[in-house]
Amino acid sequence: MIIIGKINDPRLTPDMERSRSGSVQHFHKKGHVDWHNPFIVVSPPERHIYAELIDGEWHWVNGCIDCNDDKKGFSYIKCVKHDVCLTCGIPRDQLKETPWGAVNGFNCKPCVEKEDAAIRAAALQRAEENEKDSLDYYRNDKITCPYCDAEFDESERYDADGEQIECHECGNTFALTANHEVTWTMTKIKEKTGE
Ligand SMILES: [Zn+2]
Ligand SMILES: [Zn+2]
Ligand SMILES: [Zn+2]
Repeated sequence: MIIIGKINDPRLTPDMERSRSGSVQHFHKKGHVDWHNPFIVVSPPERHIYAELIDGEWHWVNGCIDCNDDKKGFSYIKCVKHDVCLTCGIPRDQLKETPWGAVNGFNCKPCVEKEDAAIRAAALQRAEENEKDSLDYYRNDKITCPYCDAEFDESERYDADGEQIECHECGNTFALTANHEVTWTMTKIKEKTGE
């Protein structure tokens, strides 16, 4: 944890509880946490900085996971220097379009589109070279695109009955049917008593 310094605000006491609303710090009287009506509101000097109680005094600490070299941390707000596209490094304030959120950061729209185009080109290439026939896609364990072999999540497809699916990789459309095998379950109910 990178400590920046003590918060110079005489209103703050160590028994307060702190919550965060964006970069703004809300302080509540002990036992009276009201998210909409904080007792004291304090803005940090920069948006990635937040308040933490250390040794009984409120301090500003740097919450940027990259500054902290925290690989497992959750990215709440990064500092300006680190709040950049994970792929090309363009700073957030230079984005022209809304970026795509990613685990611990974002990817700018042009990078996402480039990545999508590369995935699609590879899938179309696979589809062109695919020499399997329809039997290779008959009663399989997994759902795969019969054009490009891209894999699909089965979890919400168990009632598929010829439904049309557009492949998220190659863009071709195929029909999907779930084949259910019949099995039998037997439970004891009544045992015949007698001599
Ligand atoms: Zn940083
Ligand atoms: Zn980018
Ligand atoms: Zn496909």
